[in-house]
Amino acid sequence: MEKYEFPDYTHLAKPNARYAMIGNIHGFFFNSQGVPLVTVGPHWTFFAGLNCFIFFLALIFIFVISPSVSNLNTVIGTVVFGFLMTNYLLAGLSNPGIPKSRVPDEGDLDPVDSEFQENYCKVCDVLMEEGTKHCEDCGVCIEELDHHCPWTSKCVGKGNLSYFYGFLLGILFTFIYIVVTLGLKTKYEHQ
Ligand SMILES: [Zn+2]
Ligand SMILES: [Zn+2]
Repeated sequence: MEKYEFPDYTHLAKPNARYAMIGNIHGFFFNSQGVPLVTVGPHWTFFAGLNCFIFFLALIFIFVISPSVSNLNTVIGTVVFGFLMTNYLLAGLSNPGIPKSRVPDEGDLDPVDSEFQENYCKVCDVLMEEGTKHCEDCGVCIEELDHHCPWTSKCVGKGNLSYFYGFLLGILFTFIYIVVTLGLKTKYEHQ
């Protein structure tokens, strides 16, 4: 039987590079294992635009609306918007779980084995661990893929799932804060 040639794994192997594309994801600051520390997904313009929108909304509430309600309201607004923006940035900029470049060794699965065929991603040249899936939008494998999320510009997986939950919680807190603040402002104006 013909000997199987393992791919050279160059798709992900960019140790210590400052910037490289991985599929449709922009990767920055690669470590020695070829894993980027910072990533921005294909929908980065939407992500950047929404960040600007949230930032301006925060400025309007913290500097214009809240001070006319109370000091406590301003402090709460700063904390709530700070929490929302921090988690949103972390979810959108951290590595969602791109598998590290993996140089195959002697003990690897048999390439003609059906288990190998099922768990091998031809695009990324990696053997996928359980929970790893290839995302067509991002064009790369993601460990413990949860879903592809245009809001964060890319996938939500092992590396940014907790920040994504923080972002959802932040949206809830911000919504409550905005409703309460506008309610109080209207109430004071009519007194
Ligand atoms: Zn893949
Ligand atoms: Zn994706």
